[in-house]
Amino acid sequence: MLATLKEILPEAYRKRRAVGAFNVANYEAALGVIRAAEREKLPAIIQIFQRLFLSEKGSDLAGTLLRMAHRCSQPIVVHLDHGGSAEIVRAALAAGCSSVMFDGSMLEFEKNAELTKYAADCAHALGASCEGEIGHVAMGDENAITTVEDAVRFHSATGVDALAVSIGTVHGFYKSKPKIDAARCAEIAAALPSVPLVLHGGTGTPPEDLRAVIENGVSKVNIATEFMDTFLKSTRRELEALGDNFLPIDKFMDPVVDDCAAHAARLMRFFAGK
Ligand SMILES: [Zn+2]
Repeated sequence: MLATLKEILPEAYRKRRAVGAFNVANYEAALGVIRAAEREKLPAIIQIFQRLFLSEKGSDLAGTLLRMAHRCSQPIVVHLDHGGSAEIVRAALAAGCSSVMFDGSMLEFEKNAELTKYAADCAHALGASCEGEIGHVAMGDENAITTVEDAVRFHSATGVDALAVSIGTVHGFYKSKPKIDAARCAEIAAALPSVPLVLHGGTGTPPEDLRAVIENGVSKVNIATEFMDTFLKSTRRELEALGDNFLPIDKFMDPVVDDCAAHAARLMRFFAGK
């Protein structure tokens, strides 16, 4: 069933668990997430990166994901990841996404708060949920660790349903071992006891660090790079095995879907403390 962050994160937060948020750009990887959710009987978040909404890709994909969410027995959130403008947030909501993120983390505090509040108001008017980010999780640039004061001010200024914080992870694969600040995470959670926190840059973050932040208030963990990498590597393996032979693409993709489902299920179990 289609769900919002508001419907699944508060419970995960209370139980000190997290829900996996998987970035997809195609049907087969999304099918892997849906199958994993069914198999593990756990909710999931399927996210579309904002770039896809710069063309027809985002809304085409959202239509497919909505259909998949509706037929799934578990709660599935169809979420815009890193919305960078009001236009993209509106496009994602118009395409039926049940949740959006506005990412103004590179902007000045006031501008970030103003634009995030607009995104949250748009989302809430349609019964959707909204995630914002304060501090900045690096995307090939500099990290800015979130302060407790900023987190509290930002939440009260915007009314977001989930708050992405920067506590040492980065986007993409790590070039060196990350230093994750679980203590800062705990301080932010203590100051905002009813606000689920979001960890961006889940890829490659050591399991013990993930466990520590989940126990300290993170209830949504974003996994993009390593999940897409599984899709790519599995596809390459199947292509090599195929050689010069031919298979219809739906049959060719079946083992790739299985690999994506196994990867998503493993992470979902870990995030749920199973
Ligand atoms: Zn991110």
